[in-house]
Amino acid sequence: MHNEAHKSLLDWYQKNGRHDLPWRQTDDAYKIYLSEIMLQQTQVKTVLERFYFPFLERFPTLQSVADASLDDVLKMWEGLGYYTRAKNLHHTAFTCKGVLPRSPEELGGLKGIGKSTAHAICVFAYRHALPILDANVKRVLCRYFALSVKDEKMLWAKAWEFLHVKHPYEHNQAMMDIGSLICTPKNPICKECPLSLTCKGKTAPENYPKALKKAKVPTKKRFALVVYNEGKLGLVQRKERLLHGLWGFVQAGELPKDAKSLGSVTHTYSHFKLELEAFRCESLHVKVDGYFTREQIETLALSSVDKKILALPSMMGNIPPTS
Ligand code: SF4
Repeated sequence: MHNEAHKSLLDWYQKNGRHDLPWRQTDDAYKIYLSEIMLQQTQVKTVLERFYFPFLERFPTLQSVADASLDDVLKMWEGLGYYTRAKNLHHTAFTCKGVLPRSPEELGGLKGIGKSTAHAICVFAYRHALPILDANVKRVLCRYFALSVKDEKMLWAKAWEFLHVKHPYEHNQAMMDIGSLICTPKNPICKECPLSLTCKGKTAPENYPKALKKAKVPTKKRFALVVYNEGKLGLVQRKERLLHGLWGFVQAGELPKDAKSLGSVTHTYSHFKLELEAFRCESLHVKVDGYFTREQIETLALSSVDKKILALPSMMGNIPPTS
């Protein structure tokens, strides 16, 4: 049914695919799983340059993740953001005792592994004939089949229909590469696309799918309390879902009386923007989980916004007493 497109896609992949990506040069399910999780919210370049290899050096096997504390895993994830991914990875490593199951159903039942990720592990590690449906592939399929609505059920049906069952590994890698190199969100390069002959959406790719109006993200304004005591800084270990387990400064809606401004930072999360004004305060009534020197803080996993506070010019060096 899609013979012509399949042939063109595989030829293109042979010549132009990103064969040198390290997670394409292994069939170790853990390394493939790790790359899939890291790449969920982060670009290939960032993962390659800063995170994938250091993480594997510290945690060469899934068993080593299971044996580590969550703090250690979060520390290696620091800067990559979306820390729920690291927590789920740690949880999954522990739950499956360091060995990932081999079926998509069992994989999909593990925390943080959705259907597409489960399929990706099975295709790339075990060569199962399954389609993958990540964000890039969804866009390619929407355009290829001229689907103006990004409907999950329909996309899975099209992904199954379009799958090259004899070459699922190459087919899926090619679709992912087309999505990130050619059929990009803006200005797709249709004239270089191996699917252009049979693509139904190539005359108006921007219509597939139709863009939804983006909701404006709300801004939250809060205070960060830099509690200083005998040369050490008071920190809390976060409990909220988004940053659970990370260390940072106390955040509050109100200021204690002795507070003195240190400057402001902003950080944009997926659902809101945070404007945080940092205040130094001496109050020992502010509850913290521990006091740490700068050197000790270096060893803790901190969220990005708390790192920004630490980097404020007024926070450099040892903070002098206010009086
Ligand atoms: S022909 Fe154009 S719109 Fe169609 S899949 Fe290729 S890049 Fe995307």
